[in-house]
Amino acid sequence: MITQISLCFQHKRFLKQRSHFRFTKGLNMIIGPNGSGKSTLLRAIDKCRECARQEDGPTHYQYFNGETMNPHRAYKYFKGLPGSVIRARALFSSHGETMRDVLQSYNPLPGDCFILDEPENGHDLEWVIKIRKGLDALVEAGCQVIVASHSPIFWNKSHIIELKRGYLKHACRLMKVSLSKDCRPR
Ligand SMILES: [Zn+2]
Repeated sequence: MITQISLCFQHKRFLKQRSHFRFTKGLNMIIGPNGSGKSTLLRAIDKCRECARQEDGPTHYQYFNGETMNPHRAYKYFKGLPGSVIRARALFSSHGETMRDVLQSYNPLPGDCFILDEPENGHDLEWVIKIRKGLDALVEAGCQVIVASHSPIFWNKSHIIELKRGYLKHACRLMKVSLSKDCRPR
């Protein structure tokens, strides 16, 4: 698993408030407003050879974003028999179902690091909860999971990494206000 990363010069330009991040085992959550660099940080973890990573052993990264979870494109990223099954099923599936198929067909190994960019996009609450359960199962299997998300369903019981200082406190304050004033069933 990855334990920390120091961003290279190129990536530092996109993440203004911080350039060094620590990760724990289990579920890590990257939060911040739009434009704060969440996707940039995920891509840096996945691919950048200039950013300085520390890992506690051999680490295998699996990166998912809206593109890789597109039901009509997922097969490009998953070869062999699982890829064929996903491709066939994807013709009749939503993004959430495709993600479920990918997670189910993948045999997670301890040391794997799953990186997901806003997995809640395009899903209703029920699916978001299912995806969260899938991530919890990965963690139980010994994988590390790093997610960028706006959904508090993913934030719960995770190691929170703020890209803007005070964002979690701010978000909690906002939710409390909107729930008490605007979110009554009518
Ligand atoms: Zn970099």
